[in-house]
Amino acid sequence: MDMNALWEYQRIDLELEKYQKEVKNTPTRRRLVQLQRFVRDSQSRLSEMENTAVVKQNSILELEAQNTALAADLEDLNQDLGYYSECDDEELDIKEIEQMVKNCEKTYDAIAQVKKQVTRLKQEVEASDRATRELIAKMRAAKEEFDMLRVEHEKELAGGEDEEKELKKKLAAAQKAVPAGVLAEYTRIKGFRANPVAVLSGNRCGGCNMQLPANVATKVAASDKPVTCENCGRILILRDGK
Ligand SMILES: [Zn+2]
Repeated sequence: MDMNALWEYQRIDLELEKYQKEVKNTPTRRRLVQLQRFVRDSQSRLSEMENTAVVKQNSILELEAQNTALAADLEDLNQDLGYYSECDDEELDIKEIEQMVKNCEKTYDAIAQVKKQVTRLKQEVEASDRATRELIAKMRAAKEEFDMLRVEHEKELAGGEDEEKELKKKLAAAQKAVPAGVLAEYTRIKGFRANPVAVLSGNRCGGCNMQLPANVATKVAASDKPVTCENCGRILILRDGK
């Protein structure tokens, strides 16, 4: 069985594949993929940042409410102390006053603590706002670059279109010379081997380099069906002069 047509078919098939791979792998294309990934990752980072900011804003509101309550307590205590300052000496209960002063101090400390927390949280929220704005600016720049490069890549693709068309035409022509059954076998092997056809040379498979039984060449020459390598499964063919 003459397998030269199959060999030619594979040659064009591999050439077309290589060409398509190259088109997918231009610097422009790689940069596009990179930019797309950056924008996608940034979007999820952005929503995480927003969620954190909302939690912090809520904490600030709670703390400010606490502060208001504490300030009211302090006000009450001050009023009580003011009341005692107007009392006659015999009405004064020194222990109670000491307790009240202590309470005033405690409340005041608590207010200072809460204020400190609020200040810290506000700084954090501001920092996160800045980071958000910076990220959004970067995303916008990435988007602009993406749009520009996409146009460029489309030109690249259009430029290569003729070459790809030409190869596809050649492949279709080569396919006509390959029997349908052989082509089906080729396609099946293509599922696990990039190059499904190998030249048998000196009883050695050109695909996996395995030494095969001595009668395999005779089998390949005589069979009207594809004979495959027992090791790698490729279709074996004989080439002139080998
Ligand atoms: Zn093999």
